[in-house]
Amino acid sequence: MNKSYSILLYYCYAQIENAEAYRDEHHLLCLELNLLGRIIVSDEGLNGTVSGLKEDCNEYMRRLHADPRFAKTDFKVDPSDAHAFTKLHVRYKPEIVHSGLRHIDPNLRTGVHLSPQEFKELKDKEDVVVLDVRSDYEHSVGRFKNAVTLDIENFREFPDKVDELKEKYKDKKILTYCTGGIKCEKASAFLLDQGFENVYQLHGGIIKYGMEAGGEDFEGKCYVFDNRVAVDVNKVNPTIVSTCHVCSTKSDRMVNCANPVCNLHVPICEECGVKMDGACSDECKEHPEKRPYDGTGYYQKELNGYNPLKGFNRKKKSNVNV
Ligand SMILES: [Zn+2]
Ligand SMILES: [Zn+2]
Repeated sequence: MNKSYSILLYYCYAQIENAEAYRDEHHLLCLELNLLGRIIVSDEGLNGTVSGLKEDCNEYMRRLHADPRFAKTDFKVDPSDAHAFTKLHVRYKPEIVHSGLRHIDPNLRTGVHLSPQEFKELKDKEDVVVLDVRSDYEHSVGRFKNAVTLDIENFREFPDKVDELKEKYKDKKILTYCTGGIKCEKASAFLLDQGFENVYQLHGGIIKYGMEAGGEDFEGKCYVFDNRVAVDVNKVNPTIVSTCHVCSTKSDRMVNCANPVCNLHVPICEECGVKMDGACSDECKEHPEKRPYDGTGYYQKELNGYNPLKGFNRKKKSNVNV
């Protein structure tokens, strides 16, 4: 395989003045470098995952690091043989991860950052609780051995789970982790805010742990937000934790249901994929809008009407009051 592309995953909590105007500037930078992917620009920082030619990605990282606001951005870099996205979206949003915790500023106080190696050494200690702050569809396909997982559909629901966690684990050392580290910045800060005293976070998340610590004791696959759907992390003692949605045999083959109205993200084994023609249920198999199954379980979103300049042509609000 010719790995001439890179896939970047990164975030940076930093105050951005005039973030909506900066969005335009950042969008132009991505167009200049032919990057594809999704970036959120907010008053509290940047959150992105993009793909592009290796040299373009290197230039992008260089340009961000040269900006004092983003000098400490930590990039997770995965080599790839192609783009991992089909579109470019650079959006302005009030938060870089929707948490409903805008008042929590990780730049003021957050959990202690652990390197992958430090996390590995601490995670099995007796007084330690390893806490997965991701959502159901993510931890169901892969998680750390013995991790506490939360029954949440979205990170916004995390704050609602904290009372429950307090009852059980208040006096323990809490080690939080997520995909790339961004959710942990807020989650661990919020735990401190709620009275937990010993809070740590896996810096760079599961992705960096896979790259730098071999991924030991991460069971299953890591769900990601690009065309790959889920990636291998563990090169030391890999296992499969999920089962086929149709026949219940062990499978970590993540697919989207071929019925676009359902589009459920679930593991379906190769055999059932063929048998069900890519659908998650008989009902979905017979659905009039069912997409043709090509054996991957991944469906390109329609490019019809997509415009890489989208975002520039939004209507500017008028300040004139009559
Ligand atoms: Zn099956
Ligand atoms: Zn379905």
